Amino acid sequence: MNEPDTSWSQLRKRARSRLLRMHYESHVGHLGGNLSCLDLLLTLHHDVMQPEDRFVLSKGHAAGAYYVTLWNTGQLNDLDLTQFHQENTRLPGHPPTSGIEPILFATGSLGHGLSLAAGLALAKRLKGEPGHVYCLTSDGEWNEGSSWEALIFAKHQGLANLTVLVDLNGLQGFGTTQEVANLDPLAEKFEAFGVPTVLINGHSHQDICTALQSNPSTFRAVVAQTRKGSGVSFMENRMEWHYLPMTESQYRQALQELEAE
Ligand SMILES: [Mg+2]
Repeated sequence: MNEPDTSWSQLRKRARSRLLRMHYESHVGHLGGNLSCLDLLLTLHHDVMQPEDRFVLSKGHAAGAYYVTLWNTGQLNDLDLTQFHQENTRLPGHPPTSGIEPILFATGSLGHGLSLAAGLALAKRLKGEPGHVYCLTSDGEWNEGSSWEALIFAKHQGLANLTVLVDLNGLQGFGTTQEVANLDPLAEKFEAFGVPTVLINGHSHQDICTALQSNPSTFRAVVAQTRKGSGVSFMENRMEWHYLPMTESQYRQALQELEAE
């Protein structure tokens, strides 16, 4: 078990460094979208979620950031992380169907996570179970009709035990979200569907805590403005870091920047 750090900056630095190391050693990409949502995942799991709460990572390609978060909370260990993306691993590049207790669903086929989360929240209500359900989506996933169908369903059912978070980094696999299929202004669109929505800085620990630690009376959305590749100068807001693995020199530079921060 790893002893969680209490200081936010230490916690974040430790998690970012471990995330970079894991992706470097496994020679895999998806770093940009992992770094954009890491602060959301860390804050949610360290400062917000209670044992009876559940989480669905709809943007399954951010599995690395999620695994590192579970490592920080002591639910995965160092040996687990060394198996990331290897043959027959428990830690594939997208969340697995089974084998890691907090992970309830295999995700990464985009646009499906909020439907799964809404089903969980409705089941909790029907069974009279306590606990809140959190779902993290990318922004690109809101190109999918199924995401909007789930939003309408959650609103219609009045699922006060469900919160959807959006990692609004403005980029997706083939360009900016404005170029591919413009989603702006996403928070206002959610409001137009009757869903109370707050727009926050997704890299501000305080903003994330404030948005999530209140007790909602209905289904709500938190739209978090983030930077793809956050914390690494040559990755920030650059679409290619959706895909690229790091070279050794890039890895060294990225670590140096995080250490200097
Ligand atoms: Mg995105």
